[in-house]
Amino acid sequence: MHYPKPIRELIAALKALPGVGPKTAERYAFHLLGWSEAQIQELAKRLITVRTALSSCSHCGCLLDQPECLFCDRESDLLCVVASAKDVFSIEATGLHRGLYHVLGGLLSPLDGRGPAHLAIGTLKARLKTLRVTEVILALDSTVEGDATALFLKEELAAPQRRVSRLAHGLPLGSPLEYIDGGTLARAFSGRG
Ligand SMILES: [Zn+2]
Repeated sequence: MHYPKPIRELIAALKALPGVGPKTAERYAFHLLGWSEAQIQELAKRLITVRTALSSCSHCGCLLDQPECLFCDRESDLLCVVASAKDVFSIEATGLHRGLYHVLGGLLSPLDGRGPAHLAIGTLKARLKTLRVTEVILALDSTVEGDATALFLKEELAAPQRRVSRLAHGLPLGSPLEYIDGGTLARAFSGRG
């Protein structure tokens, strides 16, 4: 016997979340059924607010909850390139970078058909033409996709007046940035090569 349609639809929606398979989605859906009307309203409100109250900076791609981008306002000749807006917060937490950022919006993945045109590389190159950046720090995952992206960017962004470094030193192989603890990330930041 099938679950009633509203539950099936909720399960399908929950399955879109990373790491949530069919069994977990079923468990979440039935758990939510036990919530009060007020709890459900609160969750729905939070989901809508996070969508409407935040935007991305059209220059750097960082998350904004106000009109001006505090990251783009910084006076710095260092620019850190990350895959996702979430990574910016991990790097800020190390306290070792108070410079500019650029969010790529993903990593190169030829197997998934994600090429350079899918990432914010054009805007990065345009920014580098106007900004006075002496070092571009590639803070990318230590994975096959991260390596491929770093290799591509090192060639693409090479210029006599700036260094393109990578935050790979000390990072465990195969680790996405989001799973790396603050201490390891801080060491990798200091020891970039
Ligand atoms: Zn910005």
